[in-house]
Amino acid sequence: VSNVAALSSGTAAIHLALIILNIRSGDEVLVSSFTFSATVNPIIYQGATPVLIDSEPGTWNMDPVLLEAAINDRIRKNKKPKALIIVHLYGMPASLDRLLTIANKYEIPVIEDAAEALGSKYKGKYCGTFGLMGILSFNGNKIITTSGGGALLSANAGYIELARKLAT
Ligand SMILES: *Cc1c(COP(=O)(O)O)cnc(C)c1O
Repeated sequence: VSNVAALSSGTAAIHLALIILNIRSGDEVLVSSFTFSATVNPIIYQGATPVLIDSEPGTWNMDPVLLEAAINDRIRKNKKPKALIIVHLYGMPASLDRLLTIANKYEIPVIEDAAEALGSKYKGKYCGTFGLMGILSFNGNKIITTSGGGALLSANAGYIELARKLAT
């Protein structure tokens, strides 16, 4: 990841990621159920519907088995989810290998919420750098703080350029 937009909050970063992925009214977005409300709020801001996925015992983060079951359920109902937000809560990396394999299989773009995981690594690579986009928070309660702030990360320079334009 060599492209980063500095923003006013982690919430703004998630909101911009959803806008960049063209998430809007009527869409469904898969998201961890065990998280801070700010992971889910931007889905509502876009008029979309969150589909909450429960945790696995080992990481307390999104359960890959429940994720795939939910995707299949939504596809059966003609509501294929438009995006997936994976959270690394308390600095603990989610089971990325399994979650990303499922996301790739169903071609669902991934946003990584690494608001609480700045500096955490999964198999030697930083959390927030695996998804199509990742977010960090620099809020007062986070690992590094600017009182309030956030960042959007992506390997895709065009996404970050667009985020900067929209944020300005
Ligand atoms: C803090 C946090 C956010 C939002 O960050 P803000 O900068 O407070 O908007 C999003 N997700 C998680 C998991 C968080 O802990």
